[in-house]
Amino acid sequence: MDPRTETQPAPIDLPGGGDWLAWVSQRCQDQLDEARRQAGLVKAGSSDAPVVLVAWNKAETAIANAEAVSLWAEVHPDAEVRDRADDLSQQVQKYVTELGLDRDLYAVFDRLATESDLSGLDADARRVLEHTLRDFRRAGVDRDEATRDRLRELSEQGVKLSQDFGRNIRDDVRSIRISPERLAGLPDDYRAAHEPGDDGLVTITTDYPDLVPFITFGADAEARHELALAQNNVAWPANDAVLQQLLAVRRETAELLGYASWPDYDTEVKMIGNGQAVADFIDRVGEAAKERARDEVGVLLERKRVDDPSADTVATYDSRYYSELVRREQYDVDGQVVRTYFPFEQVRQGLLDVTGRLFGLGWTPVSREDAGTWHDEVASYDVDLDGTRIGRIHLDLHPREGKFKHAAQFDMVKGIAGEQLPEGVLVCNFNRGLMEHDEVVTLFHEFGHLVHHVLAGQGEWARFSGVATEWDFVEAPSQMLEEWAWDADVLATFARNEAGETIPADLVAAMRRAEQFGKGLYAVQQMSYAARSYWFHAGAHDDLTAYGDELQRRYSVFPPLDGAHMHCAFGHLDGYSSGYYTYMWSLVIAKDLFSAFDRDDLFAADVALAYRDKVLAMGGREDAADLVADFLGRPYSFDSWAAWLAE
Ligand SMILES: [Zn+2]
Repeated sequence: MDPRTETQPAPIDLPGGGDWLAWVSQRCQDQLDEARRQAGLVKAGSSDAPVVLVAWNKAETAIANAEAVSLWAEVHPDAEVRDRADDLSQQVQKYVTELGLDRDLYAVFDRLATESDLSGLDADARRVLEHTLRDFRRAGVDRDEATRDRLRELSEQGVKLSQDFGRNIRDDVRSIRISPERLAGLPDDYRAAHEPGDDGLVTITTDYPDLVPFITFGADAEARHELALAQNNVAWPANDAVLQQLLAVRRETAELLGYASWPDYDTEVKMIGNGQAVADFIDRVGEAAKERARDEVGVLLERKRVDDPSADTVATYDSRYYSELVRREQYDVDGQVVRTYFPFEQVRQGLLDVTGRLFGLGWTPVSREDAGTWHDEVASYDVDLDGTRIGRIHLDLHPREGKFKHAAQFDMVKGIAGEQLPEGVLVCNFNRGLMEHDEVVTLFHEFGHLVHHVLAGQGEWARFSGVATEWDFVEAPSQMLEEWAWDADVLATFARNEAGETIPADLVAAMRRAEQFGKGLYAVQQMSYAARSYWFHAGAHDDLTAYGDELQRRYSVFPPLDGAHMHCAFGHLDGYSSGYYTYMWSLVIAKDLFSAFDRDDLFAADVALAYRDKVLAMGGREDAADLVADFLGRPYSFDSWAAWLAE
């Protein structure tokens, strides 16, 4: 890697305690103005390819900066700022749609590709041109005027519907009210944090730090059932209609553009290639995992019968609880003991130390005053490589009202060499005290995206900056980084309990054995989600609850939950549309990538640095399959994944 040491740009100037409403509006407006100016230069009609592409790159950079305004809709503590960010995002998307359908602009690129001498362009510049033309075609620029008008309308509707879908989930925290005895099985710190109110009842919300321990450790089956129902009814009924409209918009868009289905349109620019391949992949994984899943659910049922001899089925809300019991009783792993080794602050520092060592990076804390962030709980760091600042990251890791409810990496700034420093934000909802090991794994996962964003933000082209590979590859680097959260030597560097004792290697070994249990269940449950995501988009269905239940019965070993409407709270149906298979697809790739590492020495520098430079730092400069082949020295394969499933 070759960071441009001489002219590293500064981070952006966030307003901190200042006027965010004005700042967010101004930033977005300035970037839109710049995008218009640069697009105007492109249209002004140079036939010199490098000149056109440089102006176009500036336009795309400004657009990415303007699009990043959507971050504030997810994290800003002030509802007014969040709403403004949503409005601005709509304007940005409207402009992006306009550009995509702009025939004059398209004509410039088309002329370049067909008439000019491209011999002076390097491989990156040619790829920019190819991908630009592809995107214009996918936007519908070559359709007749009536069709383009309709595509414009559909795009605008789609943006609004997506925002409604997300907002309905974000703003709908549900809860159950139960008597304190029903907290049986939960750890002391959880009980202490859930004191009864004046009426003697305890409130348990659907926010992760409340929900996850409860469904993992809560012994009261009926209470777990109530909470699971609350969770599976978040955004119901509002999002049912929103989703139907969103699906209809996507179907019509694909049809107008000449594709047989939305999944065909969506997968054209993915590793997997076409819609049918997604359906086949879901079936292939489902088939491979079925027997193992049946065996595992048998073990859960047997254990459940100890508590309830009449039990004849294991419900979704039993799954985590009995898996935890089986792991404790049969694999000697007590989640409540495990979590004592993972105090939040220690884990956060440990993560930075581990990833810093692995990728040769340094993290220097930046005070809130200097970083100017939006909340006291956000921790900011400058990222250094060989003494040069190559990015800035912000970790916003605890829940609060009106904040994004899941875990994700958001771009704040895409890195462009010499122009702008990459900045990214992790948005998660972790407990402030002790973390579950699951949460530690999630933190490593999300951090994988952040590292990818920064390392791939040192090049010239906006289009290839950051996590800019095909979208069904993006989970591979982050899923691979999860492996480091399962390694005894790695965990020993930071996992210590209050008495200062390091997590014992034999406990980690037991955790890994226990983790093997439930792999089949995980795979089939993931396929039932992937099937919803795919089949909801592959054709029209009147009753999404009933159809979702049918898919659950087809793929999962847990029966659908009566009265649940999980599709309304399934945020990925918006962000990933028909592509939820991405997680398992990326896992196939992640297991293959990981096969290159030495399991006895996860810090071995040569392989980690090769991975850093050949895969992460490349961003979108080559097809993901080529990046993987370059790193592994052969094409990707299913073998490591299949071996993992059979382990
Ligand atoms: Zn991820």
